[in-house]
Amino acid sequence: MKYVEQVLENLKKHNPNEPEFHQAATEILTTLAPVVEKHPEYEKAGLLERFIEPERVILFRVPWVDDNGKVNVNKGYRVQFNSAIGPYKGGLRFHPSVNLSIIKFLGLEQILKNSLTGLPIGGGKGGSDFDPKGKSDREVMAFCQSFMTELYRHIGADTDVPAGDIGVGAREVGYLFGQYKRIRDEHVGVLTGRGLTYGGSLVRKEATGYGLVYITEEAMKARKDSFKNKTVIISGSGNVAIYACEKAQSLGAKVVAMYDSNGYIYDSDGIKLDIIKEIKEVKRGRIKEYADIVKGAVYKDGCKGIWSVPCDVALPCATQNEIDAESAELLVRNGVKYVGEGANMPSTLEAIEIFKKKGVVFLPAKAANAGGVATSALEMAQSSGRMFWSFEEVDAKLKNIMINIYQNIDKSAKEYGYEGDYVMGANIAGFVKVATAMMAHGIV
Ligand code: NDP
Repeated sequence: MKYVEQVLENLKKHNPNEPEFHQAATEILTTLAPVVEKHPEYEKAGLLERFIEPERVILFRVPWVDDNGKVNVNKGYRVQFNSAIGPYKGGLRFHPSVNLSIIKFLGLEQILKNSLTGLPIGGGKGGSDFDPKGKSDREVMAFCQSFMTELYRHIGADTDVPAGDIGVGAREVGYLFGQYKRIRDEHVGVLTGRGLTYGGSLVRKEATGYGLVYITEEAMKARKDSFKNKTVIISGSGNVAIYACEKAQSLGAKVVAMYDSNGYIYDSDGIKLDIIKEIKEVKRGRIKEYADIVKGAVYKDGCKGIWSVPCDVALPCATQNEIDAESAELLVRNGVKYVGEGANMPSTLEAIEIFKKKGVVFLPAKAANAGGVATSALEMAQSSGRMFWSFEEVDAKLKNIMINIYQNIDKSAKEYGYEGDYVMGANIAGFVKVATAMMAHGIV
């Protein structure tokens, strides 16, 4: 049996009941076969076995008291996956679906994503099955304080620097940072996505969504195409989705559909983003309200229907496995030309195959949504240097990073004989740098 297949088989055997982790590992390892064939020394050094095993997994109890005085207990996770090229870096996700499989898949993806940014950051991820939705600010604060009371001993500005993800936005990062500072008596860049008054960076909020549009625009440019007059659909209506919409609109695209976990809205005139921001960012409401406010807009229950809306560009920005084979077929039949993944692993392996086979330009998450973590690394640089860069400066750096990522994955795909296959390109380009560093460090 070939080395890659052997590692994958062992991974599945020794990590049962972790379907998301298996899925991410399958996607990554199968594309790395040409690299390990070129480097027989990797097998001798057990490189892949070490690459797919987290350096450290931290599991902990998070007790907190709700507004009725009831004690609740959630599970807390931090997976410190790989620190070969820099301190662990990756977000925290608070969502009821969170389990070890999801955190490990996100952590594994994060290693390669962070490598692709060209910045010195390793891969990690964490979170909890806590659901901030419907909780009072005081309950969210109590939870965050309890979570940090354990997490603080495992993180540090040069060790492990968490950030936001699903369910962890400015409010949660604020409470987490406040508790860290209180326990450690240190005002350092231990979390990114911080508020602008306490060490945050301009553009961090917009970075993942803007970055997604910048890299998609670069892929378009290479094909003498642009966002101008393109019809776009965006799943989700959270941080990534909102700022992808903002940037796509500013480049002349018409975004006609978005969703939240209950259902989707369709507005043939183009979505009014200020109304979405008011509903989702200010009121923490449901996207359904959009159709009550905007005449002519339609709301439909259920998320899946969004993929039946005809479009040129689809930007999945909500969660994993939101585009299955059936949705991918539908998108292709309705003429989609570009798919850029804002969320992590939003397309199933079958959906990716369909996009590839049908010639859709497909930009995988680890390249397409790397703008968020790249800007987090810029936030870390500003924190440690006690500097504060302007919006224009950070935005220009972000755009530059996204253009470089595109060129890098395009070049790697060509180099290995897979022109236009950005899944191959991203996995190979991300991996080679990490592998080279791991080989230099010896067996650790
Ligand atoms: P948010 O919590 O801000 O928004 C998430 C959005 O997705 C919400 O609209 C939410 O709906 C929807 N959603 C979440 N889970 C589901 C589900 N199971 N089914 C349908 N809809 C769902 O998160 P972000 O925007 O930060 O993250 C979105 C994605 O982007 C995630 O995959 C994340 O890992 C990825 N990402 C985020 C980065 C960042 O900088 N924030 C960086 C790189 C990747 P509802 O409001 O109803 O819950």
